[in-house]
Amino acid sequence: MTTSGSAVSDDDGRLAYQLDKAHVLHSWSAQGSFDPLVIRSAQGCEVEAGDGTRYLDFSSQLVNVNIGHQHPRVVAAIAEQAQLLTTVAPSHAVLPRGLAARAILAHAPASCSKVFFTNGGADANENAIRMARQVTGRDKVLSAYRSYHGNTGAAIVATGDWRRVPNEFARGHVHFFGPYLYRSEFWASTPEQECERALQHLERVLVSEGASSVAAVLLETIVGTGGVLVPPPGYLAGVRAIADRYDVVLILDEVMAGFGRAGSWFAFDQHDVAPDLITFAKGVNSGYVPAGGVIISEQIASFFDDRVFPGGLTYSGHPLAMASIVASIAAMEDEKVIENAARIGADLLAPGLAELAERHPVIGEVRGVGVFWALELVTDRETREPVPAAVMGAVKRELMARGLLPFLADNRIHVVPPCIVTDAQVETALGIYDEALTAVEAGR
Ligand code: PLP
Repeated sequence: MTTSGSAVSDDDGRLAYQLDKAHVLHSWSAQGSFDPLVIRSAQGCEVEAGDGTRYLDFSSQLVNVNIGHQHPRVVAAIAEQAQLLTTVAPSHAVLPRGLAARAILAHAPASCSKVFFTNGGADANENAIRMARQVTGRDKVLSAYRSYHGNTGAAIVATGDWRRVPNEFARGHVHFFGPYLYRSEFWASTPEQECERALQHLERVLVSEGASSVAAVLLETIVGTGGVLVPPPGYLAGVRAIADRYDVVLILDEVMAGFGRAGSWFAFDQHDVAPDLITFAKGVNSGYVPAGGVIISEQIASFFDDRVFPGGLTYSGHPLAMASIVASIAAMEDEKVIENAARIGADLLAPGLAELAERHPVIGEVRGVGVFWALELVTDRETREPVPAAVMGAVKRELMARGLLPFLADNRIHVVPPCIVTDAQVETALGIYDEALTAVEAGR
């Protein structure tokens, strides 16, 4: 493994970099100082940069490549479908769409009966919210301050024709604090206290907003980009009970946590709750073709039997995306990918990261499950003050110099390899995190 960083040395790599800088506007970034890493190929848990440097991909890109890069079965399914039928209107029935819905529902709660397909996670949440509003006739949506649900919202309200009207809500989104014991909003010192107080807070917010105006509670089962916050035991069941008490739809966002990331098909499988609507994307086909969707309970699905569902997308259930979902789920089942993620989490990452924290005082907390972990970096374990951005810059440089492509968010390293990661790759990565943190601590 060479580790010469992101310098581009060959012609294609150089051209890729130049064209990107000249003509591509990047997400969430000031463009001038943005310095993209050119990637020219990838395989399994490794990516190859424009200059030939190979990196262990412990980001899974945007935490989506659950099955690893270039899985041959998924690539072949896309190619085969492309030969047969590359695109079709969503109003037609096509076999891969039905097969994909059936394969997804096979892993969902028995109370679910249908899937609405979208192009990604944001539009999955948009459509889940739309369903909840239609079904309840209410408009408010409660969601957590620490959450990410996607980057859309204005398009349908900007729309001029009839489709705007059933989706135009004057009031809308209300936020509340979810459980996060390490930085508790509730002065809690145990998971039990955090759980009980967070539930009490949620119910107070819901009632104060007027329960009869609340359509849905929308939650990431495990808060992802906001910090890999695994809810304490009993929290999700408590949210379910509150939703039931006030006839509010419970939407669980499994866009990042689902399809193996947490070591189970859905992260809520480990919490014994059944949501009314489940949103998914990312891991369902590892993003080989953009896809997402909403898994819908029979009760909500049947509401639209004799009422128009006022939502739709040109590429809903796109054949290439559907073929990739069918192949990806089949490969995950046959190759025991979910089981691997669970075992890696329990046997290697949990003890390995805990050991790392023993050696590095900069690690304030380690938390996670499956292949979904965060190391929270602090200047002082007592005050828990987050390390400044410059330290995170140094962490990134040191990790990449040793051949690991990281996922960093705020003051955290998210340890999020593909679900197919091997024991040897985890051992290598743990060694790299150790060395990089040692280098960063020495330089401070
Ligand atoms: N929900 C969660 C939990 C996510 O992590 C993301 C993306 O990171 C989204 C929704 C949005 O998905 P997309 O970027 O596919 O629209």
